[in-house]
Amino acid sequence: MNKTKIDWCDSTWNPVTGCLHGCEYCYARNIAHRFGGFTELEDTDLDYEKICESNIAEIEKPLKYLNDKGKIGKSAYPFFFKPTLYRYKLNEPQKWKKGRNIFVCSMADLFGSWVPDSWIEEVFKACEKAPQHNYLFLTKNTDRYARDTTYQIF
Ligand code: SF4
Repeated sequence: MNKTKIDWCDSTWNPVTGCLHGCEYCYARNIAHRFGGFTELEDTDLDYEKICESNIAEIEKPLKYLNDKGKIGKSAYPFFFKPTLYRYKLNEPQKWKKGRNIFVCSMADLFGSWVPDSWIEEVFKACEKAPQHNYLFLTKNTDRYARDTTYQIF
């Protein structure tokens, strides 16, 4: 979970990144392409065929990235802007004890038509496990948001 300069929230949390809306002005796509990719330094249990077929990805643990200075770190966007669920990030809000206003999926549209129902359910369950926070969602697909949630739309 990251602190942010966005003045209407305290933090961003991105258990899902990537978006297929294709807006020309998208800032998130630029960031994901600038800092994306990963280096396969160890065996992974990724099913590449499934990822290519479905055009979405799910990962259980961070993938490593070797930068041009020879440093190894976690890849923030291993599949660039391809919609990706990072299951290892789902427990992050629980680690923040003090309540915050959290912008959920600032690097995605969680309610895009391509997002599996199971991803949304997993994110909501993670929110329920850390009720000390306020969770803010932004979407271009308000119909799905309204259908999938009992939360109020502002
Ligand atoms: S909806 Fe948002 S994240 Fe998706 S392409 Fe448009 S600006 Fe980018």
